[in-house]
Amino acid sequence: MAKRIQISQHGGPEVLQLVDIDLADPAAHEVQIENKAIGINYIDTYFRSGLYAPASMPSGLGTEAAGVVSKVGSAVTVLKPGDRVVYAQSTLGAYSERHNVDANKVALLPDAISFEQAAAAFLKGLTVHYLLRQTYEVQPDEVFLFHAAAGGVGLIACQWAKALGAHLIGTVGSAEKARLAKDSGAWATINYREEDIAQRVSELTDGKKVRVVYDSVGKDTWEASLDCLQRRGLMVSFGNSSGPVSGVNLAILNQKGSLYVTRPSLFGYITNREELQLASSELFSLIASGAINVDVPEQQKFALADAQQAHKTLESRGTQGSSLLIP
Ligand code: NDP
Repeated sequence: MAKRIQISQHGGPEVLQLVDIDLADPAAHEVQIENKAIGINYIDTYFRSGLYAPASMPSGLGTEAAGVVSKVGSAVTVLKPGDRVVYAQSTLGAYSERHNVDANKVALLPDAISFEQAAAAFLKGLTVHYLLRQTYEVQPDEVFLFHAAAGGVGLIACQWAKALGAHLIGTVGSAEKARLAKDSGAWATINYREEDIAQRVSELTDGKKVRVVYDSVGKDTWEASLDCLQRRGLMVSFGNSSGPVSGVNLAILNQKGSLYVTRPSLFGYITNREELQLASSELFSLIASGAINVDVPEQQKFALADAQQAHKTLESRGTQGSSLLIP
């Protein structure tokens, strides 16, 4: 038996229920992991609300956690019981005490990184890795726009940009979040509840604007983001925190300067063990060196049984950086 958070229908945080399940032994290519810290991601709210559909109902929730390998499938050679590990996968169910995971989605955790740091940083840090290093390779001294800079993904992006010597302009929803983003390495911030995003980006860049915008806010910022781009610039739309972008007339890309748009997902960049190893080793060395700090504030560590409250806090824009469930 294992406790897990389960949904039987879509809805608000109240549909998250703590239940006992019979957990099978891991399949041949899986390992069973005793979760020590579980990462909360905004995508979890999409699967709960119905914006994204789980494979079947009832469904577990959650895509990442850190813990200890307790059982190993018959075909697994790269992991053994007792290994400290972290995982991120598109299959749901990480909101649980124990979980069976495809061994190719699991990375060994260096001793210098705690379970909580790993669960706070893995999926979000791998996301920042592909965004800044692969989708568009941000250069030293380059100025670019990154929305929700004080969020989980955002605070890692601020620190990674600083490590690259790049100049991240971060949008934020409050003065306190602006301070935090600046302290984490943002070059400049824009409070998008009070300031005009495109106008401020133009001012900050002496009218040049930017070659790339990373937008996870979605519906509310789509058009302003396009207005921040230079001719032939790249719009990276990678999330829906305010709702999905829909009904786009492609002619807008022509009107705003022959722009490019991409809508990437982490799981299109991490498709095998080699890609996972490459990206995670870069992330782990930045965390171990102190260049990226992912310590989670105590008020953002929730018991597994308090998943409802964790989702309420995240969706009310009440969090800074990452949040965790502790089984
Ligand atoms: P965050 O911690 O960033 O939380 C979301 C933040 O978005 C809020 O704190 C808030 O910050 C901002 N926001 C702006 N408008 C709204 C709104 N209307 N409602 C709620 N929040 C709003 O979450 P994560 O770090 O987990 O994820 C960030 C984004 O990245 C999400 O959209 C997620 O889906 C996306 N993502 C995409 C991936 C991919 O590969 N495509 C992978 C990982 C994450 P503020 O108050 O400062 O505005």
